[in-house]
Amino acid sequence: MATRRQFIRISTVSAGAVMAGMAGFRLLASELTEGQKATMAALNKRTPTYCEVCFWKCAGWVYKNDQGAIQKITGNAEDMNCNGRFCPRGTGGVGMYYDEDRLKTPLIRTEERGKQSFREATWDEAFDYISEKIKKLSADYGPECIALFTHGSGGKYFTTLLKALGSPHVAAPSYAQCRGPREVAFQATFGQTLDSPEPLDIRDTKCLVLIGSHLGENMHNGQVQEMSDAIDKGATIITVDPRYSTAAGKSKYWLPIKPATDLALLLAWINVIINEELYDKAYVEKYTYGFEYLKEHVKDMTPEWAYGVTTIDPTVIRETAREMSNAAPAVIVHPGRHVTWYGDDTQRLRAVAILNALLGSWGRRGGFYRAESAALPEPTHPPYPVPKRTWRTEFPDLYKLADVVLANGVCDASVPDPSRNCKFHGWIVNGSNLIETLPNRANTLRAIEALELLVVIDTMPMEITGYADVILPECTYLERYDEIRTGPHRKPQIALRMPAAEPMYNTKPAFWMARELAKRLGVIDYFPFETLEEQLDWQLKDLGSSLEEMKKVGVKTFDRPNDDLFFTPGEEVEFFTGTGKIELYSTLLADGGFDPMPRYTKHPEPPEGFYRLNYGRAPMHTFGRTSNNPNLTDLMDENSVWVNPRVAKEWGLSTGQYVYLENQDGKRSEFPIKVRVTERIRWDSVYMVHGFGHAQKKMRRCYGKGASDASLITNVMLDPIMGGTGMRGNFVTFITDLVKEEVAS
Ligand code: SF4
Repeated sequence: MATRRQFIRISTVSAGAVMAGMAGFRLLASELTEGQKATMAALNKRTPTYCEVCFWKCAGWVYKNDQGAIQKITGNAEDMNCNGRFCPRGTGGVGMYYDEDRLKTPLIRTEERGKQSFREATWDEAFDYISEKIKKLSADYGPECIALFTHGSGGKYFTTLLKALGSPHVAAPSYAQCRGPREVAFQATFGQTLDSPEPLDIRDTKCLVLIGSHLGENMHNGQVQEMSDAIDKGATIITVDPRYSTAAGKSKYWLPIKPATDLALLLAWINVIINEELYDKAYVEKYTYGFEYLKEHVKDMTPEWAYGVTTIDPTVIRETAREMSNAAPAVIVHPGRHVTWYGDDTQRLRAVAILNALLGSWGRRGGFYRAESAALPEPTHPPYPVPKRTWRTEFPDLYKLADVVLANGVCDASVPDPSRNCKFHGWIVNGSNLIETLPNRANTLRAIEALELLVVIDTMPMEITGYADVILPECTYLERYDEIRTGPHRKPQIALRMPAAEPMYNTKPAFWMARELAKRLGVIDYFPFETLEEQLDWQLKDLGSSLEEMKKVGVKTFDRPNDDLFFTPGEEVEFFTGTGKIELYSTLLADGGFDPMPRYTKHPEPPEGFYRLNYGRAPMHTFGRTSNNPNLTDLMDENSVWVNPRVAKEWGLSTGQYVYLENQDGKRSEFPIKVRVTERIRWDSVYMVHGFGHAQKKMRRCYGKGASDASLITNVMLDPIMGGTGMRGNFVTFITDLVKEEVAS
């Protein structure tokens, strides 16, 4: 059994390596202007922040050296998301500040979209351009034709702007391209969503089941630490993955499942747990609805049935089900995070939720706890105008359980189509590289081509910025205030992000940009505070704190209003479902016309000579967001494609060789990718880390390094329940007729 230290070492990389990578920054810091140096010297003390290298939002401290240059970031010991320790990506976040390829000043496009021809503009010019366009689009089509895509802290302020203008169309790829199906599934089962961080009591669990969730590579800091603690305390880890992941290496059971069959395994586990009466009878009796339906539903879904589907030995299916039951209720079947795989994802996550319910882990120590958040007041402003049309009124029968605007839906509705009126004419894109984020790139480009306005707000020149009409350079999280972090945890906790340094170059915070646009568009009343500092101080005082206090402590924890982290024995609990119970049979799904029970359906298999394309994360990178970060490229600067030795032999491939990948629709990767021959991947699949293969030349460190999985995802399987984009139904083959010298050239 691996120790905590071993796990941390494997799942992270040496912090020393990160610090070594920072050596070059001292030179860059010396290139700062005298004004910038003076400001930094004045601020030469530790300042609180919360990390934005990923969205775990660990709270920490930013330190500067004697010259006032930002030197390092460490975790805040009081923070429940990180327990005083940043992950290597987080410590490498300094690289976002010093990256010399950053966007530096507003830019306005001078040639056709995608040509990367821009002229530098003043902020006034940029804002005037945008506001005139928005006024015209609102007059021509109504303000509802403008959509915001957001995946960053600044999205909050642009959301206020958009709603003030009369558009409700705020889309986040983190829903339909990532977590949405699990939120709908848990809502349907337990009457509540999971949010982030998920309320998992991993540190006290006795059995953790990971299905396609590679904790340790997916560096969600607090969870990785808790998993290490659980391992040290002897917890059983069961990992289901066609790839021998880092987590699989720490597991008692690794189930190398045939891809696209996870739902069959989950149903077989449910079958065993019911047939062998391994479920928590008192809990199921008291809290759940639909047990008899479920029992009938899974009666034929035996381990032997599942063996034929999943290739997992029936004995192992039974053994692992018993392991879960032995640990119950201190057991967690992890709900995962990026769960948009095969288009039946809500139903797969329903099976995960049902399994947890049978084991009685919801509301129990070592299972799921009741999370609490601090509530901050929102600034008072006039009511938002009522939109004349919304995506929901336009499409009442589509994806009925989607409760947020779908990023892919907005994209589809922006593509001119003679059979319908095009609905979106302007996009504001904040911190989301849609070219890589949305599947089916050709469709995204068709939509962009038809837009009359595309504004991109980002810190880096991503692929999407090449298509913008106007680019607004945002300063990094180390140079700005942002909203107070209030995310849920075992206790309510807040964290402050404040500038550790003046914004470099001619960059600005999103709050200021949104407010300046609001002034020009006649909706300044929706931004009653002139600065974010004033707003934060007002909000914090309502909570009994202040900006002054938070600058000193960074993080503040409050007592829970009630001592109810877990259910007490015999507690009466009302769940926010149709029946007030945990729904094994979902009335929400039945009422929506969907199957109330999860049902396995067979998915297409790779054609001859093709392999299923699986993608995932590396501990030192967060999608394309960090691909150009000088600290983190020092640790990993390109991805590789994992190939089983049997496949490698058939193709004559060897480790280190470069190949192109081509998918089932003939789409070839723009750049070659290095082969890694390994037993750690099944013979029917390949695997690569997401976020590489950038085609944006302005990101000089990562341009052309590795291949982009996103560019190979042309087959999208839509979840009929909530519109999620299943992206794991793509298959690739190898193009080998390239010699390494050609690749290098
Ligand atoms: S997990 Fe790492 S990258 Fe993510 S917020 Fe925490 S320190 Fe930053």
